Amino acid sequence: MTTTIDFLSHLNPSQRQAVEHYCGPLLVVAGAGSGKTRALTYRIANLILKHRVDPENILAVTFTNKAAREMKDRIQRLFAEQLAMKQHGQKLDLLTEYQQTQLRSQVYKDTIKDLWCGTFHSLFSRLLRFDIEKYVDEKGRRWNRNFSIFDESDVMSLIKEIVNKQLNLDDKKFDARSVRYAISNAKNQGLSPQEFEQDQPNYRGRVIAQVYSLYQDKLAENNALDFDDLILVPTRLFQQNEQVLGYWHRKFRHILVDEYQDTNRTQYQLIHLLVTNGETRKSEWEWENRSVFVVGDADQSIYSFRMADFTILLGFQEDFGDGLVDDDTRTMVKLEENYRSCENILQAANELIENNTQRIDKVLKPTRGPGEQITCHKADEELAEAAFVINQISTLEQQNPELSWGSFAILYRTNAQSRPFEELLVKYQIPYTVVGGMRFYDRKEIKDVIAYLRAIANPSDTVSLLRVINTPRRGIGKTTIDALVNASQQLGTTLWEILSDETSVNTLAGRATKAVNSFAEMISRWQGQIGTLPVTEVLQGILEDSGYVQDLMSQGTDEATDRVQNVQELYNAALQFQEENEEVSLRDFLNSAALSSDLDNLKEGQTAVSLMTLHASKGLEFPVVFLVGLEQGLFPGYRSLGDPASLEEERRLCYVGITRAQERLYISHARERRLYGSREPAMRSQFLDELPEELLTTPRLSRQTYTKSASTPNGKQDTKQNWQVGDRVLHKTFGIGEITHVFGTGSKMSVAIKFDSLGQKIVDPRVAQLQRV
Ligand code: ATP
Ligand code: MG
Repeated sequence: MTTTIDFLSHLNPSQRQAVEHYCGPLLVVAGAGSGKTRALTYRIANLILKHRVDPENILAVTFTNKAAREMKDRIQRLFAEQLAMKQHGQKLDLLTEYQQTQLRSQVYKDTIKDLWCGTFHSLFSRLLRFDIEKYVDEKGRRWNRNFSIFDESDVMSLIKEIVNKQLNLDDKKFDARSVRYAISNAKNQGLSPQEFEQDQPNYRGRVIAQVYSLYQDKLAENNALDFDDLILVPTRLFQQNEQVLGYWHRKFRHILVDEYQDTNRTQYQLIHLLVTNGETRKSEWEWENRSVFVVGDADQSIYSFRMADFTILLGFQEDFGDGLVDDDTRTMVKLEENYRSCENILQAANELIENNTQRIDKVLKPTRGPGEQITCHKADEELAEAAFVINQISTLEQQNPELSWGSFAILYRTNAQSRPFEELLVKYQIPYTVVGGMRFYDRKEIKDVIAYLRAIANPSDTVSLLRVINTPRRGIGKTTIDALVNASQQLGTTLWEILSDETSVNTLAGRATKAVNSFAEMISRWQGQIGTLPVTEVLQGILEDSGYVQDLMSQGTDEATDRVQNVQELYNAALQFQEENEEVSLRDFLNSAALSSDLDNLKEGQTAVSLMTLHASKGLEFPVVFLVGLEQGLFPGYRSLGDPASLEEERRLCYVGITRAQERLYISHARERRLYGSREPAMRSQFLDELPEELLTTPRLSRQTYTKSASTPNGKQDTKQNWQVGDRVLHKTFGIGEITHVFGTGSKMSVAIKFDSLGQKIVDPRVAQLQRV
């Protein structure tokens, strides 16, 4: 009887070589869908199972938190399968549900919980929770381990305050967003405000350096870090403190990075420091029981606007190869089979990317059959394009039992393009999720409650304290708040030190004294509960005692009801977090909330159509993909039209989009489009002309009858306005039925039809192409 499952048998020989690699550097380069992520995941399992590596010695970097979760799930499953064989001599699926749960939780306890697997940001914020107290910045300032992570809106309001109020700058010349971008770039290049200032030849640059410096002061005062700091601060810490670096270098003996082509210089530096322990001479690195393993595809490098640099990938062997540069096979594995997409899709992707000059040629062979041709559709305008897509989705979903709503993805170049699609999806009651829409954690009510939690966890976080001091209203007005803030600034203390001192409050707060004292008393009480009560209990206390929920309930509007539900959902998130992670602290929960990126939706939409930008789709796959808006100026974007390097990046983005598709690919564009308010004629994207013509087909469906001028399939003038209750009609997908209701008129018209076989459905007669029978 076999007692183990040979999971390596799910791999081809090159993947196997990568997965079985034990020590030293290894670069895996390969095109899309060739199993890079799979190889990385299996290698972690192999390190633990075969080489007996302790999970806590492994650091695995993924591109999104969701990818990290999936990776952990996958490893947990592989291990549970092994255990099922070992303990029960049976396949996991054949055990009782109880036994399966037991095995999974054992695997979680023994392995998964010790694994450091996540995005750069989540991994290094976790590391900073241990060691930030040893970090000193260039002005001698320190942070403590309760630091807050400021998100984009916190950062923007600090920058606006500095630009508009503190420095009184003309906000047309110094638009907060571009100042923010410049500061972020400086941080991504590892520059402090002083270092940044030295590089500035002109007035504007020097002013930005000044804003940067004041901004750093504010972060330090609040004991806060921004996203860029989560990478920059550990790098600096490693550079300034040998012991700290030495500790993490010894701990992380095996480092793995997915999507390596999209790392930037600071992220690279972090990895380099951890691998080499800061030694500059290669001969001094030791590779015994130690490895660095990165996977990537230069053709999928699409984040140069965030300073990602794919030459880092190209330089891997030089950087880590230890003199083995010429001996490729010892430090590099190429994967050449694509397992994801049908042959036609793959061939289209390969031919497209060959138009780029900046690339290393590589082979990507299909393993699947030719599949369908790629459907290319030209619509009259953007609404008609959306109608075409939604129509196809509902038809395919009806006709193919193996497809569910979760099998479909609509990918676009810019976020704003989602609107017409969303409108129709709502209208037809098709479930969908917009990945990268407003983050759950960015909603006002969620930010309010999180601000309470942050103020409790990190009393120096004045930004959060100010957010909640009078939310809900408790009679603490602007004058009082100004007096308190002023006093703290004059004394060089934190606002909390003033608030928590009754004498100071009695002196400064005037008529609001009682309210301020009771607010401070409430915050201290919750602070006292941290560490003794679970996070959910503390949260429950806040929701009840602060009056926040009660205030919302008393408003009685639909919007307020929604907000209450969202707050309830936050409570559920905390509960879930507590269940998934043992021994959680408030800090851990806040960390995960701050880092839940706009690419991870709170509810994972497995049963819903996914809408997202091409950037967000990296690493994912879907049976059916719609690539929309392929028009010059939109995709490729107009900024790239005169710039060969950024045109190549747009083409890589298109390559990423095409290679997300497994079975079917649809590409669409419109004849005219409303862009920035005005309706403009649109030209089809040059990328369409770069695809092999023989692989493309136009849709089999007859012309869309969506726009006013459109005619019905039989060529007669459209009689769609005249639908009446009682009409017998033929619907392309649902068959024959009878109209029971007509809602609205003109372009807003929809009809309810009782289908003979399917029951009642509401459809848009223009999209559904109804025919009278
Ligand atoms: P991307 O470049 O888009 O990130 P990737 O190279 O990381 O792609 P994966 O996502 O790991 O590719 O794999 C693509 C698909 O192929 C997945 O569904 C994966 O399960 C499947 N796959 C990978 N290797 C094999 C294999 N040896 N046999 C069968 N299926 C495989
Ligand atoms: Mg991948």
